[in-house]
Amino acid sequence: MMKIAVCVKSVPDPEYYEKITLDPATKRLVRDGIPAVIGEADRHALEAALALRDENGGEITVVSMGPPAARRQLLEALAMGADRAFLISDRKVGGADTLATSYTLSCLLAKTGTYDVILAGNESADGSTAHVPSQLGVWMGIAHAAGVVSVSSDDKGLIVTKEAEGGLAKYRLRTPCVVAVTPKANEVRFMDVRNILAAKEKELQVWSAADVGNMDESFMGLAGSPSQNGEVFAIESSKNCRMLTGTESEIADQIVSIISGNSKGGEEA
Ligand SMILES: Cc1cc2nc3c(=O)[nH]c(=O)nc-3n(C[C@H](O)[C@H](O)[C@H](O)COP(=O)(O)OP(=O)(O)OC[C@H]3O[C@@H](n4cnc5c(N)ncnc54)[C@H](O)[C@@H]3O)c2cc1C
Repeated sequence: MMKIAVCVKSVPDPEYYEKITLDPATKRLVRDGIPAVIGEADRHALEAALALRDENGGEITVVSMGPPAARRQLLEALAMGADRAFLISDRKVGGADTLATSYTLSCLLAKTGTYDVILAGNESADGSTAHVPSQLGVWMGIAHAAGVVSVSSDDKGLIVTKEAEGGLAKYRLRTPCVVAVTPKANEVRFMDVRNILAAKEKELQVWSAADVGNMDESFMGLAGSPSQNGEVFAIESSKNCRMLTGTESEIADQIVSIISGNSKGGEEA
């Protein structure tokens, strides 16, 4: 029997990215009217959890930190086959950077149970720092691996393959451990109608920081975040294409000339 947790983040639907704006005063994303979804990597983390449960038996708990509306994504995770879900939603944890986010998730995990394996997406679809899973491993003082492209288990623990420079590296992780999976790790199964129907009956709790308890406020939310957002601005991109004509050696000469700043060369297109 394996106790598995999966960290699922509610992120803006990529289909609507063009409509997302930044509030110049708070530097936060303005997500009004933007539907939220479970991030792609997190779906693969959940699939890895389902496969481990198929193999070993056990229970899958989904945890998240986010606004109350993130409850919908947790309900979807239950419909995908998870057994229970917990969301921490509280102004005290708002504005968290990755370190404060991972601290909060570590407290939520500690409060909800003891786990053999904690799975997460390798990087979120919005913040995309790929910090949270490793930081979680550090807060919890357990083994952690990121960039994982395959997950399996045997009687000695977990076996993961992760991307390494120029190839792949295989590791055996002692449990408990945190594993951050990439979308290459598996193919997400179709949802089963029985799970969809059962989802509403499963345990889904939304907790405040006080419900989690034993949290150190100096590590929580914006005040507990060592990194602070600075100026945020859109990059103006002007695409200029210059067509060079002539033989290969004439073109090479023109390139050298352009690089050395002697000539504009070619024609603007
Ligand atoms: C100063 C500051 C203020 C910020 N204020 C806000 C804010 O007000 N609102 C806001 O939405 N963001 C805010 N952020 C962004 C916030 O730090 C990130 O959303 C969060 O820390 C996760 O980082 P990431 O998305 O890069 O995660 P990554 O490390 O890329 O995520 C990897 C995986 O970790 C797990 N994970 C990450 N975050 C969560 C989560 N919240 N719940 C469950 N699992 C998770 C998922 O499995 C995810 O796939 C702020 C950042 C800074 C620096």
